[in-house]
Amino acid sequence: MRSIVGGAIKFMQEDFKEHKKLFKSLKDRQNPHTLFIGCADSRVVPSLITSTAPGELFVVRNIANIVPPYRVGEDYLATTSAIEYAITSLKVKNIVVCGHSNCGGCEALYDEKSLEKTPNVKKWLSLLDDIKDQILELDLAKKDLAMRSWLTERLNVLNSLQNLLDYPGLKDTVLEQKISLHAWHYIIQTGEIYEYNIDQKHFVLLAKKEK
Ligand SMILES: [Zn+2]
Repeated sequence: MRSIVGGAIKFMQEDFKEHKKLFKSLKDRQNPHTLFIGCADSRVVPSLITSTAPGELFVVRNIANIVPPYRVGEDYLATTSAIEYAITSLKVKNIVVCGHSNCGGCEALYDEKSLEKTPNVKKWLSLLDDIKDQILELDLAKKDLAMRSWLTERLNVLNSLQNLLDYPGLKDTVLEQKISLHAWHYIIQTGEIYEYNIDQKHFVLLAKKEK
């Protein structure tokens, strides 16, 4: 494995040079078309799984790709401020909330002991308490832990999307069809990305639309 410094040197000497024109064009400003909200998990790489280049995605990552309810002025709101900026100032055309398989954040919800030494993570994940309660009522989720994770990850994405709609100005922009919202579930071991289909009311594998 290359060291992190070795990787940076390789970037300067090879990758940057190869894409010099692109970086030069991005010198003064950014104009990303998409706000990508994903998990901080190292296995989820937004630009890789969307085949996008620098300048295309405005990325917000946190533990378990959570969009917290909109509010003003409490503490220092990193996720909320980044989303607010992307919607209001950057005027992105798409928002993707991307959950993923085997999400440690979603899993930790069911193992409070694992969060004893990380009180801030515990507090952050308490945003998903309602989802946890919902899931724990299902017999299926009690018997099948893989199913429990799967359902938690997907419900979490939908809940985040719902919270997004309360961000200032977003609902109107959606109604005017100036922005589109996407709820994704990325499967690490297969590379598959499922998107929630509002008509079918379930997640379907992304595919090119037939003409
Ligand atoms: Zn995760």
